[in-house]
Amino acid sequence: MIAPYDPDRVRRRGGHALVIGASVAGLLAARVLLDAFERVTILDRDVLDTAARPRRGVPQGQHLHVLLTAGQLAMEQLAPGFTAELVAAGAVRVDLGRDVELYAERSRLAPGNSELPMYYASRPLIEDVLRRRVRAHARLTLGSGQQVTDPVLSDDGAVVGVVAVDGGGARRFPAELVVDATGRGSRTPTWLEQLGQPRPEVERVEVDLVYRTVQLRRPAGDRRAMLVMPSADLGRGAGVAPVENERWLVTLFGLHGDHPPGDPEGLRAFAAELATPEVARLLDDHPPVTPDVSRYRFPASRRHRYDRSTSSPRGLLAIGDSIASFNPIYGQGMAVAALQALTLHRTLAAADHREPADDFYARSATIVDDAWNLAAGGDFRFPATTGPKPRGTDLLNRYVVRLHRRAQVDGELADTFMRVAAMLRRPTALLRPATVWRVIRPRRPSARARSVTDP
Ligand SMILES: Cc1cc2nc3c(=O)[nH]c(=O)nc-3n(C[C@H](O)[C@H](O)[C@H](O)COP(=O)(O)OP(=O)(O)OC[C@H]3O[C@@H](n4cnc5c(N)ncnc54)[C@H](O)[C@@H]3O)c2cc1C
Repeated sequence: MIAPYDPDRVRRRGGHALVIGASVAGLLAARVLLDAFERVTILDRDVLDTAARPRRGVPQGQHLHVLLTAGQLAMEQLAPGFTAELVAAGAVRVDLGRDVELYAERSRLAPGNSELPMYYASRPLIEDVLRRRVRAHARLTLGSGQQVTDPVLSDDGAVVGVVAVDGGGARRFPAELVVDATGRGSRTPTWLEQLGQPRPEVERVEVDLVYRTVQLRRPAGDRRAMLVMPSADLGRGAGVAPVENERWLVTLFGLHGDHPPGDPEGLRAFAAELATPEVARLLDDHPPVTPDVSRYRFPASRRHRYDRSTSSPRGLLAIGDSIASFNPIYGQGMAVAALQALTLHRTLAAADHREPADDFYARSATIVDDAWNLAAGGDFRFPATTGPKPRGTDLLNRYVVRLHRRAQVDGELADTFMRVAAMLRRPTALLRPATVWRVIRPRRPSARARSVTDP
């Protein structure tokens, strides 16, 4: 799934590209644009300092962020040295298959039988390391404290720059290409209207999800990590991530009104009802770093179907959460942004694109489809989920439930599932004949008692 990155394949077109938003999608898009443009500017409304701490423009930064392996590998290609710097700053390396206690359908999946490295760090640290590496490029300018308010339009309806305001007033930034990486609050649909074009079709899958996160003190050397996925009959779950500065981030979440409360006792009681007592035990045994309990409400996964629009306005392209934002319990957003950045690279390398948007949306639709079908599609396991249901979802969900149950005793199945979840393999890998057979074959009565890798 991870396209190779080869900057020599991109022909320079000269000029200036501008990216709005210096978060994960914006930084990676800017890196790729440097191969095609003389200068690249990123503007962000937040004042970006060098400290890795949560900021206003990325409120989700307080909560657990899993960096899926495909995302980390894509980031490493685009920002060589990223992983080593992340580890040097305190990121914790684990093996997804063997070290992370992953619960699905109320029981732990069997340990996988091949190596699957993954790095846990706080979201602000991941972004800070990326920002430092991308910022090191001499032809890149990062303007922080700059709120982009409007597009600059040419007489013939192309986007030829943006207007941004800071403490000193409004300023125009001319650009041949503007990339919108402003996340869920993206104004590209509104700008399209200003240009007299239809807004893109939007798909929304309502999950009414609430996250609550606490930070616990972590004894040095204790690298326990957990992921407790909800099931159709228990719409709550949790994640436990060992991160830098000897902390655990513990996120508890609930869907469709089963929301975790904000007080520590209530949170502990919520955790006690999970499919495993381990998360509640961790809360009992380890003191909090601060008394704060952060909250994030995520009403719905949302996808703008730019890939279905007949033609995009000249000079404007959206990327990352601006295109699609997924139920975060599946941990896909940063990986999708990184894979999209590699797709933008391939788009720029493929032809002398003066207008890469349509080709980019067509090429990246598969990445978004795969993530969307797993996340938004998977959410239709919960009867209260509403929205447009991808075709074949109910059948696939029943199959995945069965796969999870089998993967509780079959390390090879667990391994296949984890590689798909980590976006290293496409979801079609779950439907290969050998995998389907492992899922549907009749279970021998003694199977549970046998080795986890030899059912
Ligand atoms: C609660 C929660 C948990 C999540 N957990 C995970 C996880 O475990 N793993 C994972 O991979 N993903 C996770 N995600 C998703 C992940 O945070 C995003 O997918 C990722 O940050 C990429 O988003 P982005 O760069 O497109 O936009 P964002 O991260 O939302 O950044 C948008 C940027 O644009 C800037 N901006 C906005 N408007 C303007 C403007 N007008 N002018 C200038 N600048 C502007 C903002 O300041 C910000 O820097 C989670 C999301 C949520 C909500």
